[in-house]
Amino acid sequence: MDDAEVALEWLGPHPTLVSVRLGAGGPREDVLLSPAFCNAHSHLEYRGLLDAIPHLDYWPWIRELTRRKAEQRLEDVREHTHLAAYENRTTGVGLIGEHSDRPFSGEALHEQGIQGRVFQEVITFLESQSPQEKLDAVRMKAEAQREAFGGPVHLSPHAPYTVDPETLAWLGSLGEPVSIHVAETPLEDEWLMRGEGDIEALYVRFGVPSVRHSGGVVGYLAAKGLLRQGSQWVHGCALNPSLAPSLAEAGVSIAHCPTSNRMLDCPDAPVRTWLDAGICVGLGLDSAASGGPVDMFALMRAARQTAERRGECLGVAEVWNMATTMGAASLGFEGWAIAEGATLPLIAVTGASDPEGALRAAPQDVAWLTPNGVS
Ligand SMILES: [Zn+2]
Repeated sequence: MDDAEVALEWLGPHPTLVSVRLGAGGPREDVLLSPAFCNAHSHLEYRGLLDAIPHLDYWPWIRELTRRKAEQRLEDVREHTHLAAYENRTTGVGLIGEHSDRPFSGEALHEQGIQGRVFQEVITFLESQSPQEKLDAVRMKAEAQREAFGGPVHLSPHAPYTVDPETLAWLGSLGEPVSIHVAETPLEDEWLMRGEGDIEALYVRFGVPSVRHSGGVVGYLAAKGLLRQGSQWVHGCALNPSLAPSLAEAGVSIAHCPTSNRMLDCPDAPVRTWLDAGICVGLGLDSAASGGPVDMFALMRAARQTAERRGECLGVAEVWNMATTMGAASLGFEGWAIAEGATLPLIAVTGASDPEGALRAAPQDVAWLTPNGVS
């Protein structure tokens, strides 16, 4: 869209959606203006596994993912990562919280002009006695990603059960932004509190000293310095809703991944409770292997459906906020909102004249208004 007089009308309580009436080239009232989407939790590198793994519960699924991952050729992974970044960009995503194990997401995000954070995954539970060599390798990967991305890259624990306790505490002590998969299922509490379940069996099988914590996964992460501002917890499906106020007080943010959670039969996340407690919640695709194609509209609809299954309700403006302004804030990007003086990438959703209609839109209904990221 070229130069035009625009009249803005706020839709809903959050500065995320405005209707636009263009003065030049004839009036159009079927355009909604929004901050670019924030995909708050992503794994670009698994794009090649879209539709590859059948519907399974979380545990057999992640074991199958791990098996297939080991068979992938790095040059293919590089291509998949670039394709996924392109798909995010063309469907209106301008900001990503990216978990990365392999070394290509930094360059892919840079190529597409997508902002965000790369969380370089640390997995050390098999090296729990001497993780230093592994950590040095991850640090080198992170450095290369930082150079290619030109944006922030942080060492981040993959999950409470895939990182040894000392390394977890070290990562918590850095005070940097961090992102970690937490309580995607009840398995972490079963393991930490009772020494039972699939995670315990994994530790036994590999002869790794197991871990106990009477406070479950939340108490364990608090003890490791990961219950704090700047710590993004991903999924949280099995978190006890009664802990929401303490998470909010600590400043933890959460990435809600409703399509992925559904695919893996995870418990329905208590998002209503989180929002009411004041937790900053973003929406994430997770990987294509469990979250499907990039479609922020589908994510917003799925978030509402998750709440409905719990007998709760999320408003259109709330899910749009999670997909844009609050999602960005959940990654530490404040001010990702349409406001006077704001500078941020904007998208238009065509073919919709009200928020409900916008929620029914499809990725191809998105047009970029500010391809260079400046409004
Ligand atoms: Zn994930």
